Amino acid sequence: MSNRPAASAAACIKSIKRRFRQLLHSKTSSTSCSSLPDKIQEKKLLVLDLDETLVRHSESFAESYALSYTIEGSTYYFNFRPFVHKFLERVSQLFDVVIFTANRRIYADPVIDFLDPGGKLIGRRYYHDSGKTINGCFVKDLTILGVDLAKVVLVDNDPNNFRLQKNNGIPIVSWYFDPQDEELSTLLPFLERLAAADDVRPIIAERFTRS
Ligand SMILES: [Mg+2]
Repeated sequence: MSNRPAASAAACIKSIKRRFRQLLHSKTSSTSCSSLPDKIQEKKLLVLDLDETLVRHSESFAESYALSYTIEGSTYYFNFRPFVHKFLERVSQLFDVVIFTANRRIYADPVIDFLDPGGKLIGRRYYHDSGKTINGCFVKDLTILGVDLAKVVLVDNDPNNFRLQKNNGIPIVSWYFDPQDEELSTLLPFLERLAAADDVRPIIAERFTRS
């Protein structure tokens, strides 16, 4: 009778130890799962120009426009390049999307907000004050992004804007109003290829025959 409680306690401790070993084994197995990737791939940066790349604005009244707003006494009328909304949805899955515009923040923010009303497609925003002036030309120095330039792509209608890092820059035909324009959808397969590359620069250089 005197040994029964001791035997019961020993059985209980044995049971707890067995359960603990099962839990430990279970935990070890789940964290060493060989299907986990060695490292999480970071998305590259896709830097998009705004004016004549994604949108077109006019300061004189336009009969047809998708957005207008008044800043500092002037009214601006905006239209959007065909396919731009689907383009942003797709590239935001492949890249961290950044807007770098030669415009000032006060002018650019309302149209960027319109393009990304939920704030989920476009990350950082850079404005005129983030650029440089070289020989009188506005230039987008991509080193300001603070990331490895092997992982940065800029799409811009003005090649002068990427003259400091030519092999990061993809020129796109300026868009003024053509409703039949297909440049953004045409560009997608190339961007998908760049998203999977280790270094975007040799691929861009080859495509645009730069040395
Ligand atoms: Mg532009």
